[in-house]
Parts: sequence; structure tokens; C-alpha cells
Amino acid sequence: MTMEPYAENDIIDILNSDDLRVLQELLQSAAKCRLENIGDKVYLRGLIEFSNYCDRNCFYCGLRKGNRQLERYRLSKEEIVQTAMLAFNSGYHSICLQSGEIDSPLEIDFLVEVVEEIKELSQKADKDSKGLGITLSVGELSYQQYKRLWEAGAHRYLLRIETSVPQLFGRIHPPSQKFETRVECLRALKDIGYQTGTGVMIGLPGQTAEHLLQDLKFFQAEDVDMLGMGPYIPHRSAPLSKLSPEQQLDPYTTTLKMLALCRLLMPDINMVASTALQSINPQGLRMGLKAGANIVMPVLTPDDMRGNYYLYENKLYKKPQELVEEINSCGYTLGLWEWGDPLHYKRRIKVKVGDA
Ligand code: SAH
Ligand code: SF4
Repeated sequence: MTMEPYAENDIIDILNSDDLRVLQELLQSAAKCRLENIGDKVYLRGLIEFSNYCDRNCFYCGLRKGNRQLERYRLSKEEIVQTAMLAFNSGYHSICLQSGEIDSPLEIDFLVEVVEEIKELSQKADKDSKGLGITLSVGELSYQQYKRLWEAGAHRYLLRIETSVPQLFGRIHPPSQKFETRVECLRALKDIGYQTGTGVMIGLPGQTAEHLLQDLKFFQAEDVDMLGMGPYIPHRSAPLSKLSPEQQLDPYTTTLKMLALCRLLMPDINMVASTALQSINPQGLRMGLKAGANIVMPVLTPDDMRGNYYLYENKLYKKPQELVEEINSCGYTLGLWEWGDPLHYKRRIKVKVGDA
């Protein structure tokens, strides 16, 4: 496998370097590569965090089942559909429905209905459009469950591998959560036809530049359409925060480097400037875009629930309008009223560019 334009050793050196000039040079190359390959558009995905119930116990996450201090909520079907339609009417033509992981038949039936209703209403509201593009991010489900949601009208899915190094994956998840299952899920999603996104957390205790190089190879080998990467930010109720932070890598600058390297290695994918990146540094959005990110996900979760979707400490909330202004002030063009599918996906399925 080729890691052009950089040799593997160069990548390790870049990731380990604390020379600011190395970072600047890398960001400049990524910015140029982005303009040449996907232009200056930034697409918005309205993020609706519809439930914080979770059956899993990931060691890093504040929504984990074992966190008894968290007040749990689930939006009603009407609330989700209403929020989605409000987004559609304001020009977001893609939304992301995200939640903790619950794979009970009841939960899936509920989500199928939600997706169907959003598709139906948005297509009716604008007959010339394909309606709202729906991304799901609800964790590991069975092939059949993914298929039902696809048939209901969802067409993108985000499932981070968290780390592509099985040993490190094992250290941040309980034994019941298997690395192999997650890989199988990603392959199932692609097989069904989803535009498939994955990603990792950066700055995990014990994570090294070599691990991140392996992540880059994993993204290439799995031929993903989308990436969502962000710094790991400890949450005080999650066991990983108790681990001594023997971190060699700075989560913020290393995330920027990973974004830039991904843009250079996979020029036509969609890549998110994550909320976590914005949360650990006030320049996070600006720098994330500079490093090659072309997707921003403004949180549309209703005000009274939002605070309980607390994955990590000091999770930032910025009003969608503030994000729009910031994106404009950085000189990018906002891609409203369109789905903004990854070019990579269009190429992958050999659809002519421009007809979606
Ligand atoms: N339950 C779903 C979606 C919600 S979690 C799932 O797990 O896929 C979405 C993402 O939040 C996770 O993939 C993880 O990468 C990120 N996340 C959770 N805890 C975090 C933390 N402490 N710091 C940074 N990101 C975190
Ligand atoms: Fe649940 Fe997702 Fe958090 Fe894991 S990362 S505890 S599956 S919400």
C-alpha cells in the first residue's frame, strides 16, 4: 500500500515533531490539496442527538451505561421530525441522527419510523429535491438492522473504529465490545450501500505515532468515504480518565496533523471539523478547516436536552449562526441546499460527478 506523498517514516516523524514549522508546512500542503481536489465548499450537517440512553460501557465516554449520574432523555418522534424539518427549511439538506447505542427491536422500529417520516415530509416539502439526506450514527447493529434503516431512507453512516490497533481498542473498551465486530459492521454498511464514515480519537493514553500511522492505513484499506476524527477529551465519570495520562502526543496539534495527512492521502473524502476539536481550542474550527476538513456539524438538539449529551468535559456549544459566520470569515463557501456527498463515494460507485 502506498502512503504517498509521504514515506511511512516521514509520517512518524511529522506526528512526533513539536516543531511548529513542520505543522505549518503540512497544513499548507493540505489546504492546497483540498482546493485542488474538492474546492472551497464547507457542508453543514445538522446534528440531532436524539437520545443519550446507551447499553455500552466504552471506558472514555460520559454516556456509558455505568454513568448513573447522567439524566437520560429520548426525544419523541414528533420532536425529532420537527427539528429535522426546521433544519431542512433553513437550507440544511443533510442531517445526522446520533444517539447512544441501543439495538432492541423497539428502538430500531422507532428509528425506522423516524427516518421514513423525515424522508416523506422533506420530499413533499420540496418536490424538486431528494429530500433530506440522513446520516445515522447509532453504533453497532446487525446487518439486517442496518439494511432496514437503509431501506427506510438513511444513506450515510458514521461508526468510528476509535483506534485501528486491536490491542489499544481492547484497553479502552470492556471485553464484550470486540474490535472485529466493529470492522464487520463497517464492512456491512459499505456492502449495503451506505456512504460509510469512520474515525479515531487522538491523544488516547498510550497511543503512539505508530498507532496513528496504522489508523491511516486502515482508512485507506477500508476505502472509507468519510472521516470524523477528534481529540480524546477525558470525562470525569468515565474510567479512562483515571488512567495516568502518559500521553506523548498533544491531542490538539496531533488531530490537526492527522486531518492534514488524511486530506493528502485521501483527497476526495469528506472530513469533519469535529466538535471535540472545537472544544479543546478556540481556533479548532478555523484550523480544522485549514487542515482540510470540509464538513461542520452544528448541534440542533433542543436546548433543554443538549446539556445531557455530555460525551466529554467542556463540550462546546456554538449556535449554528455563529458557526456559519466563522466558516464565512475563514473564506470558505457554504454549501447549503445540497447533500454534499463525498466525491470519493461518487467515484467509488461510478456515478457521474454532478448528477447527485
Ligand atoms: N453511540 C454511537 C454514537 C455516539 S458516540 C457510537 O458510539 O458510535 C460518538 C463518538 O463520540 C464516539 O465514536 C467517540 O469517538 C466520541 N467520544 C466519546 N467519548 C469521547 C471522549 N471522551 N473524547 C472524545 N470523543 C469521545
Ligand atoms: Fe455509548 Fe457511543 Fe458512548 Fe460508547 S461511545 S458509551 S456506544 S454513546
